[in-house]
Amino acid sequence: MQNAEMLDFDRNHIWHPYTSMTDPLPVYPVVSANGVRLQLADGRELIDGMSSWWCAIHGYNHRVLNDAATEQLKSMSHVMFGGITHPQAVKLAKKLVEITPLPLDKVFFCDSGSVAVEVAIKMAIQYCYAEGKTDKTKLLTIRHGYHGDTFGAMSVCDPVSGMHHIFSGILAKQFFAEAPKSRNDSEWNDSELRSFREIIEASHNEIAAVILEPIVQGAGGMRFYAPEFLRQVRALCDQHDLLLICDEIATGFGRTGRLFASEHAGISPDIICLGKAITGGYLSFAAVLATTRIGEGICREKSSVFMHGPTFMANPLACALANASIDLLLESDWQKNSARIEACLNQELAPCRANPKVADVRVMGSIGVVELKKEIDMAAMQQQFVDRGVWVRPFGKLVYVMPPYIINDDDLIYLARQIVDVVM
Ligand SMILES: *Cc1c(COP(=O)(O)O)cnc(C)c1O
Repeated sequence: MQNAEMLDFDRNHIWHPYTSMTDPLPVYPVVSANGVRLQLADGRELIDGMSSWWCAIHGYNHRVLNDAATEQLKSMSHVMFGGITHPQAVKLAKKLVEITPLPLDKVFFCDSGSVAVEVAIKMAIQYCYAEGKTDKTKLLTIRHGYHGDTFGAMSVCDPVSGMHHIFSGILAKQFFAEAPKSRNDSEWNDSELRSFREIIEASHNEIAAVILEPIVQGAGGMRFYAPEFLRQVRALCDQHDLLLICDEIATGFGRTGRLFASEHAGISPDIICLGKAITGGYLSFAAVLATTRIGEGICREKSSVFMHGPTFMANPLACALANASIDLLLESDWQKNSARIEACLNQELAPCRANPKVADVRVMGSIGVVELKKEIDMAAMQQQFVDRGVWVRPFGKLVYVMPPYIINDDDLIYLARQIVDVVM
Protein backbone atom coordinates (compact mmCIF):
# COMPACT_ATOMS: atom_id res chain seq x y z
CA MET A 1 0.00 0.00 0.00
CA GLN A 2 1.33 3.42 -0.92
CA ASN A 3 1.79 5.97 1.79
CA ALA A 4 -0.92 8.26 0.47
CA GLU A 5 -3.38 5.39 0.20
CA MET A 6 -2.60 4.25 3.74
CA LEU A 7 -3.12 7.74 5.15
CA ASP A 8 -6.32 8.05 3.20
CA PHE A 9 -7.75 4.82 4.62
CA ASP A 10 -6.60 5.80 8.09
CA ARG A 11 -8.28 9.20 7.86
CA ASN A 12 -11.58 7.67 6.72
CA HIS A 13 -11.81 4.60 8.93
CA ILE A 14 -9.63 4.65 12.04
CA TRP A 15 -10.16 6.48 15.30
CA HIS A 16 -7.10 8.02 16.90
CA PRO A 17 -6.98 9.10 20.56
CA TYR A 18 -9.31 12.01 21.27
CA THR A 19 -9.64 12.82 17.59
CA SER A 20 -12.46 13.75 15.27
CA MET A 21 -13.61 11.19 12.70
CA THR A 22 -14.78 13.91 10.31
CA ASP A 23 -11.99 16.44 10.73
CA PRO A 24 -9.02 14.56 12.18
CA LEU A 25 -5.69 16.14 12.99
CA PRO A 26 -2.89 14.91 10.74
CA VAL A 27 -1.09 11.67 11.64
CA TYR A 28 2.50 10.77 10.79
CA PRO A 29 3.24 7.26 9.55
CA VAL A 30 5.98 5.59 11.60
CA VAL A 31 7.52 2.46 10.10
CA SER A 32 10.07 1.56 12.75
CA ALA A 33 11.57 2.71 16.00
CA ASN A 34 14.99 2.16 17.43
CA GLY A 35 16.59 3.52 20.59
CA VAL A 36 15.24 7.06 20.96
CA ARG A 37 14.39 7.45 17.29
CA LEU A 38 11.13 7.00 15.40
CA GLN A 39 11.47 6.51 11.69
CA LEU A 40 8.85 8.03 9.40
CA ALA A 41 7.73 6.40 6.16
CA ASP A 42 9.53 9.09 4.16
CA GLY A 43 12.83 8.12 5.80
CA ARG A 44 13.07 11.01 8.26
CA GLU A 45 14.06 10.22 11.85
CA LEU A 46 12.59 11.91 14.90
CA ILE A 47 14.08 12.05 18.38
CA ASP A 48 11.34 10.74 20.66
CA GLY A 49 10.37 13.08 23.48
CA MET A 50 7.27 11.16 24.58
CA SER A 51 8.28 7.55 25.35
CA SER A 52 4.95 6.74 23.65
CA TRP A 53 3.09 8.35 26.59
CA TRP A 54 5.35 7.40 29.52
CA CYS A 55 5.87 3.78 28.40
CA ALA A 56 9.05 3.19 26.38
CA ILE A 57 11.48 3.97 29.20
CA HIS A 58 14.33 1.92 27.70
CA GLY A 59 13.74 3.18 24.16
CA TYR A 60 12.53 1.12 21.22
CA ASN A 61 13.67 -2.20 19.77
CA HIS A 62 15.74 -2.97 22.85
CA ARG A 63 17.79 -6.15 22.52
CA VAL A 64 17.10 -7.37 26.06
CA LEU A 65 13.35 -6.84 25.77
CA ASN A 66 13.25 -8.35 22.28
CA ASP A 67 15.07 -11.40 23.63
CA ALA A 68 12.69 -11.70 26.57
CA ALA A 69 9.72 -11.68 24.20
CA THR A 70 11.28 -14.20 21.81
CA GLU A 71 12.27 -16.49 24.65
CA GLN A 72 8.76 -16.40 26.14
CA LEU A 73 7.15 -17.10 22.75
CA LYS A 74 9.05 -20.38 22.67
CA SER A 75 7.18 -21.62 25.75
CA MET A 76 3.81 -19.84 25.54
CA SER A 77 2.40 -16.51 24.57
CA HIS A 78 -0.77 -16.88 26.58
CA VAL A 79 -2.62 -19.22 28.84
CA MET A 80 -5.73 -18.52 30.90
CA PHE A 81 -5.18 -17.57 34.53
CA GLY A 82 -8.33 -19.19 35.90
CA GLY A 83 -7.18 -22.37 37.62
CA ILE A 84 -3.68 -22.00 36.14
CA THR A 85 -0.54 -20.17 37.15
CA HIS A 86 2.84 -19.77 35.42
CA PRO A 87 6.42 -18.87 36.31
CA GLN A 88 6.48 -15.36 34.79
CA ALA A 89 3.43 -14.26 36.78
CA VAL A 90 4.85 -15.53 40.06
CA LYS A 91 8.25 -14.00 39.35
CA LEU A 92 6.68 -10.65 38.51
CA ALA A 93 4.35 -10.62 41.51
CA LYS A 94 7.32 -11.34 43.78
CA LYS A 95 9.29 -8.52 42.21
CA LEU A 96 6.42 -6.03 42.51
CA VAL A 97 5.81 -6.92 46.15
CA GLU A 98 9.52 -6.35 46.79
CA ILE A 99 9.88 -2.97 45.08
CA THR A 100 6.59 -1.29 45.99
CA PRO A 101 6.01 0.27 49.43
CA LEU A 102 6.10 -2.28 52.23
CA PRO A 103 2.51 -3.20 53.08
CA LEU A 104 1.47 -3.88 49.48
CA ASP A 105 1.57 -7.62 48.96
CA LYS A 106 -1.53 -8.87 47.16
CA VAL A 107 -1.17 -8.58 43.39
CA PHE A 108 -3.88 -8.36 40.73
CA PHE A 109 -2.74 -8.39 37.08
CA CYS A 110 -4.84 -6.81 34.35
CA ASP A 111 -4.59 -5.44 30.85
CA SER A 112 -4.42 -1.65 30.94
CA GLY A 113 -4.20 1.35 33.21
CA SER A 114 -7.89 2.18 33.06
CA VAL A 115 -8.79 -1.37 34.02
CA ALA A 116 -6.30 -1.19 36.90
CA VAL A 117 -8.14 1.89 38.17
CA GLU A 118 -11.48 0.06 37.88
CA VAL A 119 -10.02 -2.86 39.81
CA ALA A 120 -8.64 -0.58 42.53
CA ILE A 121 -12.01 1.17 42.92
CA LYS A 122 -13.86 -2.15 43.07
CA MET A 123 -11.40 -3.47 45.66
CA ALA A 124 -11.96 -0.44 47.88
CA ILE A 125 -15.74 -0.65 47.62
CA GLN A 126 -15.84 -4.40 48.04
CA TYR A 127 -13.61 -4.10 51.10
CA CYS A 128 -16.03 -1.64 52.70
CA TYR A 129 -18.95 -3.87 51.76
CA ALA A 130 -17.26 -6.85 53.43
CA GLU A 131 -16.76 -4.70 56.54
CA GLY A 132 -20.50 -4.10 56.60
CA LYS A 133 -20.05 -0.44 55.61
CA THR A 134 -22.37 -0.61 52.66
CA ASP A 135 -22.87 3.18 52.52
CA LYS A 136 -19.23 3.72 51.63
CA THR A 137 -19.46 3.64 47.86
CA LYS A 138 -17.99 6.99 46.80
CA LEU A 139 -14.52 8.23 46.08
CA LEU A 140 -12.74 11.42 47.00
CA THR A 141 -10.12 12.84 44.66
CA ILE A 142 -8.54 16.17 43.76
CA ARG A 143 -9.11 18.37 40.75
CA HIS A 144 -6.88 18.19 37.66
CA GLY A 145 -6.54 14.41 37.94
CA TYR A 146 -6.54 11.87 35.13
CA HIS A 147 -7.21 8.19 35.79
CA GLY A 148 -8.26 6.72 32.45
CA ASP A 149 -11.19 6.51 30.06
CA THR A 150 -13.48 3.78 31.40
CA PHE A 151 -16.52 4.79 33.46
CA GLY A 152 -15.17 4.36 36.96
CA ALA A 153 -11.91 6.01 35.98
CA MET A 154 -13.70 8.84 34.15
CA SER A 155 -15.80 9.58 37.22
CA VAL A 156 -12.64 10.61 39.11
CA CYS A 157 -10.99 12.53 36.24
CA ASP A 158 -11.05 16.31 36.46
CA PRO A 159 -14.69 17.31 36.00
CA VAL A 160 -13.79 20.29 33.82
CA SER A 161 -11.06 18.98 31.52
CA GLY A 162 -12.52 15.45 31.65
CA MET A 163 -15.69 14.13 30.04
CA HIS A 164 -18.19 14.81 32.79
CA HIS A 165 -20.35 17.11 30.73
CA ILE A 166 -21.11 14.45 28.10
CA PHE A 167 -21.65 11.55 30.50
CA SER A 168 -23.05 13.38 33.50
CA GLY A 169 -26.21 11.25 33.47
CA ILE A 170 -24.35 7.99 33.85
CA LEU A 171 -21.11 8.86 35.69
CA ALA A 172 -20.92 8.09 39.38
CA LYS A 173 -20.93 11.32 41.41
CA GLN A 174 -17.69 11.58 43.33
CA PHE A 175 -16.19 14.15 45.69
CA PHE A 176 -13.64 16.62 44.31
CA ALA A 177 -11.36 18.64 46.55
CA GLU A 178 -9.19 21.54 45.42
CA ALA A 179 -5.79 20.40 44.22
CA PRO A 180 -2.79 21.76 46.14
CA LYS A 181 -0.99 24.73 44.62
CA SER A 182 2.46 24.45 46.23
CA ARG A 183 5.07 22.66 44.22
CA ASN A 184 7.25 21.73 47.17
CA ASP A 185 7.26 21.58 50.94
CA SER A 186 8.97 24.93 51.41
CA GLU A 187 6.03 26.69 49.70
CA TRP A 188 3.43 24.57 51.52
CA ASN A 189 0.59 26.35 53.26
CA ASP A 190 -1.86 24.41 55.44
CA SER A 191 -4.82 26.23 53.91
CA GLU A 192 -4.27 24.13 50.79
CA LEU A 193 -5.68 21.17 52.67
CA ARG A 194 -8.86 22.95 53.75
CA SER A 195 -11.20 21.81 50.98
CA PHE A 196 -9.96 18.21 51.21
CA ARG A 197 -10.31 18.16 55.00
CA GLU A 198 -13.80 19.67 54.93
CA ILE A 199 -15.06 17.03 52.52
CA ILE A 200 -13.55 14.18 54.53
CA GLU A 201 -14.95 15.48 57.78
CA ALA A 202 -18.43 15.98 56.36
CA SER A 203 -18.73 12.89 54.20
CA HIS A 204 -16.32 10.15 55.29
CA ASN A 205 -19.25 7.86 56.03
CA GLU A 206 -20.03 7.73 52.31
CA ILE A 207 -16.45 7.53 51.08
CA ALA A 208 -14.66 4.23 50.49
CA ALA A 209 -11.35 5.61 49.33
CA VAL A 210 -9.29 8.57 48.23
CA ILE A 211 -7.74 8.17 44.79
CA LEU A 212 -5.06 10.43 43.38
CA GLU A 213 -1.89 10.59 41.35
CA PRO A 214 0.95 11.11 43.81
CA ILE A 215 3.13 14.25 43.34
CA VAL A 216 2.72 14.50 39.55
CA GLN A 217 -0.70 14.86 37.93
CA GLY A 218 -0.24 13.72 34.34
CA ALA A 219 -2.75 14.10 31.53
CA GLY A 220 -4.98 16.36 33.66
CA GLY A 221 -2.46 19.20 33.42
CA MET A 222 1.10 17.96 34.09
CA ARG A 223 0.99 19.56 37.56
CA PHE A 224 3.52 18.89 40.36
CA TYR A 225 2.53 19.29 44.00
CA ALA A 226 4.11 19.32 47.46
CA PRO A 227 4.78 15.96 49.16
CA GLU A 228 3.36 17.52 52.35
CA PHE A 229 -0.10 17.40 50.79
CA LEU A 230 0.22 13.66 50.25
CA ARG A 231 1.44 13.14 53.83
CA GLN A 232 -1.56 15.07 55.16
CA VAL A 233 -3.91 13.09 52.93
CA ARG A 234 -2.44 9.86 54.28
CA ALA A 235 -2.92 11.11 57.85
CA LEU A 236 -6.54 12.14 57.22
CA CYS A 237 -7.30 8.79 55.56
CA ASP A 238 -5.94 6.99 58.62
CA GLN A 239 -7.82 9.23 60.99
CA HIS A 240 -11.14 8.63 59.23
CA ASP A 241 -10.51 5.04 58.23
CA LEU A 242 -10.48 5.64 54.45
CA LEU A 243 -8.34 3.70 52.02
CA LEU A 244 -5.78 5.55 49.93
CA ILE A 245 -5.33 4.53 46.28
CA CYS A 246 -2.21 5.89 44.57
CA ASP A 247 -2.49 5.85 40.80
CA GLU A 248 1.17 5.49 39.80
CA ILE A 249 0.37 4.41 36.25
CA ALA A 250 2.26 7.41 34.83
CA THR A 251 4.69 8.11 37.68
CA GLY A 252 5.83 4.56 38.46
CA PHE A 253 9.16 2.98 37.49
CA GLY A 254 11.43 5.95 38.06
CA ARG A 255 9.83 8.71 36.00
CA THR A 256 9.82 11.31 38.79
CA GLY A 257 13.30 10.48 40.11
CA ARG A 258 11.99 7.97 42.67
CA LEU A 259 10.97 4.44 41.79
CA PHE A 260 7.41 5.39 42.83
CA ALA A 261 6.29 8.97 43.31
CA SER A 262 4.69 8.27 46.70
CA GLU A 263 8.28 7.83 47.98
CA HIS A 264 8.75 11.60 47.68
CA ALA A 265 6.33 11.87 50.61
CA GLY A 266 7.52 8.74 52.39
CA ILE A 267 4.00 7.34 52.50
CA SER A 268 2.46 4.01 51.51
CA PRO A 269 -0.95 3.74 49.89
CA ASP A 270 -3.37 0.90 50.67
CA ILE A 271 -3.72 0.21 46.95
CA ILE A 272 -1.34 1.11 44.13
CA CYS A 273 -2.06 1.06 40.37
CA LEU A 274 0.84 0.39 38.01
CA GLY A 275 0.80 0.38 34.23
CA LYS A 276 2.30 2.23 31.27
CA ALA A 277 6.09 1.68 31.72
CA ILE A 278 5.57 -1.70 33.38
CA THR A 279 6.46 -3.64 30.20
CA GLY A 280 8.96 -1.06 28.98
CA GLY A 281 6.44 0.03 26.36
CA TYR A 282 6.12 -3.36 24.64
CA LEU A 283 2.60 -4.45 25.58
CA SER A 284 -0.48 -3.14 27.32
CA PHE A 285 -0.40 -4.42 30.87
CA ALA A 286 -1.08 -3.29 34.42
CA ALA A 287 -1.00 -4.41 38.02
CA VAL A 288 -2.85 -3.45 41.20
CA LEU A 289 -1.26 -4.18 44.56
CA ALA A 290 -3.17 -4.04 47.83
CA THR A 291 -2.42 -4.67 51.48
CA THR A 292 -3.10 -7.94 53.26
CA ARG A 293 -5.80 -6.15 55.25
CA ILE A 294 -7.72 -5.45 52.03
CA GLY A 295 -7.12 -8.87 50.53
CA GLU A 296 -8.23 -10.66 53.68
CA GLY A 297 -11.06 -8.21 54.32
CA ILE A 298 -12.67 -8.77 50.95
CA CYS A 299 -12.46 -12.52 51.31
CA ARG A 300 -13.28 -12.85 54.99
CA GLU A 301 -16.56 -14.67 54.37
CA LYS A 302 -16.03 -18.22 53.21
CA SER A 303 -17.61 -17.75 49.80
CA SER A 304 -16.57 -14.16 49.09
CA VAL A 305 -14.22 -13.56 46.21
CA PHE A 306 -12.97 -10.46 44.44
CA MET A 307 -15.28 -9.92 41.49
CA HIS A 308 -12.93 -9.35 38.57
CA GLY A 309 -10.97 -11.55 36.16
CA PRO A 310 -10.05 -10.34 32.68
CA THR A 311 -9.48 -12.82 29.84
CA PHE A 312 -5.86 -11.80 29.42
CA MET A 313 -5.13 -11.64 33.16
CA ALA A 314 -1.40 -12.15 33.85
CA ASN A 315 -0.66 -12.70 30.15
CA PRO A 316 2.66 -14.59 30.17
CA LEU A 317 4.21 -12.59 27.32
CA ALA A 318 3.43 -9.31 29.08
CA CYS A 319 4.69 -10.69 32.41
CA ALA A 320 7.95 -11.80 30.76
CA LEU A 321 8.44 -8.33 29.31
CA ALA A 322 7.63 -6.69 32.64
CA ASN A 323 10.16 -8.92 34.39
CA ALA A 324 12.83 -8.06 31.83
CA SER A 325 12.02 -4.34 31.80
CA ILE A 326 12.03 -3.98 35.59
CA ASP A 327 15.32 -5.90 35.87
CA LEU A 328 16.84 -3.71 33.19
CA LEU A 329 15.77 -0.62 35.11
CA LEU A 330 16.92 -1.81 38.52
CA GLU A 331 20.25 -3.07 37.22
CA SER A 332 20.99 0.36 35.73
CA ASP A 333 22.12 3.39 37.68
CA TRP A 334 18.69 4.87 37.12
CA GLN A 335 18.73 7.44 39.94
CA LYS A 336 21.90 9.01 38.62
CA ASN A 337 20.55 8.90 35.10
CA SER A 338 17.30 10.55 36.17
CA ALA A 339 19.29 13.30 37.90
CA ARG A 340 21.28 13.81 34.68
CA ILE A 341 18.10 14.19 32.61
CA GLU A 342 16.54 16.48 35.21
CA ALA A 343 19.60 18.76 35.31
CA CYS A 344 19.79 18.89 31.54
CA LEU A 345 16.07 19.65 31.08
CA ASN A 346 16.27 22.33 33.78
CA GLN A 347 19.17 24.01 32.10
CA GLU A 348 17.99 23.72 28.52
CA LEU A 349 14.34 24.68 29.08
CA ALA A 350 15.28 27.64 31.30
CA PRO A 351 15.38 30.18 28.42
CA CYS A 352 11.59 29.63 28.02
CA ARG A 353 11.07 31.42 31.34
CA ALA A 354 11.98 34.73 29.71
CA ASN A 355 9.44 34.16 26.93
CA PRO A 356 6.34 36.34 27.47
CA LYS A 357 4.13 33.60 25.96
CA VAL A 358 5.23 31.16 28.66
CA ALA A 359 3.33 30.89 31.95
CA ASP A 360 5.57 28.33 33.63
CA VAL A 361 8.47 25.93 33.17
CA ARG A 362 8.75 22.91 35.47
CA VAL A 363 10.95 19.85 35.58
CA MET A 364 10.91 16.77 37.80
CA GLY A 365 12.97 13.66 37.18
CA SER A 366 12.74 12.98 33.48
CA ILE A 367 9.62 15.11 32.93
CA GLY A 368 9.92 18.59 31.43
CA VAL A 369 6.91 20.88 31.04
CA VAL A 370 6.52 24.26 29.38
CA GLU A 371 3.09 25.73 30.06
CA LEU A 372 2.00 28.50 27.71
CA LYS A 373 -0.48 31.26 28.50
CA LYS A 374 -2.70 30.42 25.52
CA GLU A 375 -4.06 27.27 23.92
CA ILE A 376 -1.70 25.74 21.39
CA ASP A 377 -2.53 25.14 17.74
CA MET A 378 -1.69 21.47 18.05
CA ALA A 379 -1.49 20.53 14.39
CA ALA A 380 0.70 23.51 13.51
CA MET A 381 3.06 23.04 16.43
CA GLN A 382 3.30 19.30 15.87
CA GLN A 383 4.31 19.95 12.28
CA GLN A 384 7.03 22.37 13.39
CA PHE A 385 8.47 19.78 15.76
CA VAL A 386 8.44 17.10 13.07
CA ASP A 387 10.15 19.47 10.63
CA ARG A 388 12.86 19.96 13.24
CA GLY A 389 13.32 16.22 13.72
CA VAL A 390 11.74 15.69 17.13
CA TRP A 391 8.57 13.97 18.32
CA VAL A 392 6.76 16.17 20.84
CA ARG A 393 2.98 16.05 21.19
CA PRO A 394 1.59 19.16 22.88
CA PHE A 395 -1.95 19.42 24.28
CA GLY A 396 -3.98 22.31 25.63
CA LYS A 397 -1.47 24.90 26.81
CA LEU A 398 1.23 22.33 27.49
CA VAL A 399 4.38 21.43 25.63
CA TYR A 400 6.01 18.63 27.55
CA VAL A 401 8.54 15.85 27.21
CA MET A 402 9.21 12.60 29.03
CA PRO A 403 11.90 10.97 26.90
CA PRO A 404 13.15 7.39 27.15
CA TYR A 405 15.68 7.17 30.01
CA ILE A 406 18.38 6.07 27.55
CA ILE A 407 18.43 9.42 25.75
CA ASN A 408 21.94 10.86 25.64
CA ASP A 409 22.87 14.46 26.41
CA ASP A 410 23.26 15.50 22.77
CA ASP A 411 19.81 14.27 21.79
CA LEU A 412 18.24 15.67 24.94
CA ILE A 413 19.80 19.10 24.43
CA TYR A 414 18.67 19.09 20.81
CA LEU A 415 15.13 18.09 21.87
CA ALA A 416 14.89 20.79 24.54
CA ARG A 417 16.28 23.48 22.23
CA GLN A 418 13.60 22.72 19.64
CA ILE A 419 10.99 23.38 22.32
CA VAL A 420 12.64 26.68 23.25
CA ASP A 421 12.69 27.71 19.58
CA VAL A 422 9.20 26.50 18.67
CA VAL A 423 7.44 28.24 21.57
CA MET A 424 9.25 31.53 20.72
C1 LIG B 1 -2.59 6.68 31.27
C2 LIG B 1 -3.14 6.70 32.63
C3 LIG B 1 -4.22 5.89 32.99
C4 LIG B 1 -4.95 4.99 32.01
O1 LIG B 1 -4.12 4.02 31.46
P1 LIG B 1 -4.53 3.29 30.08
O2 LIG B 1 -3.50 2.21 29.93
O3 LIG B 1 -4.44 4.36 29.03
O4 LIG B 1 -5.90 2.78 30.25
C5 LIG B 1 -4.65 5.93 34.31
N1 LIG B 1 -4.06 6.74 35.21
C6 LIG B 1 -3.02 7.52 34.90
C7 LIG B 1 -2.38 8.36 35.95
C8 LIG B 1 -2.53 7.54 33.60
O5 LIG B 1 -1.51 8.34 33.28
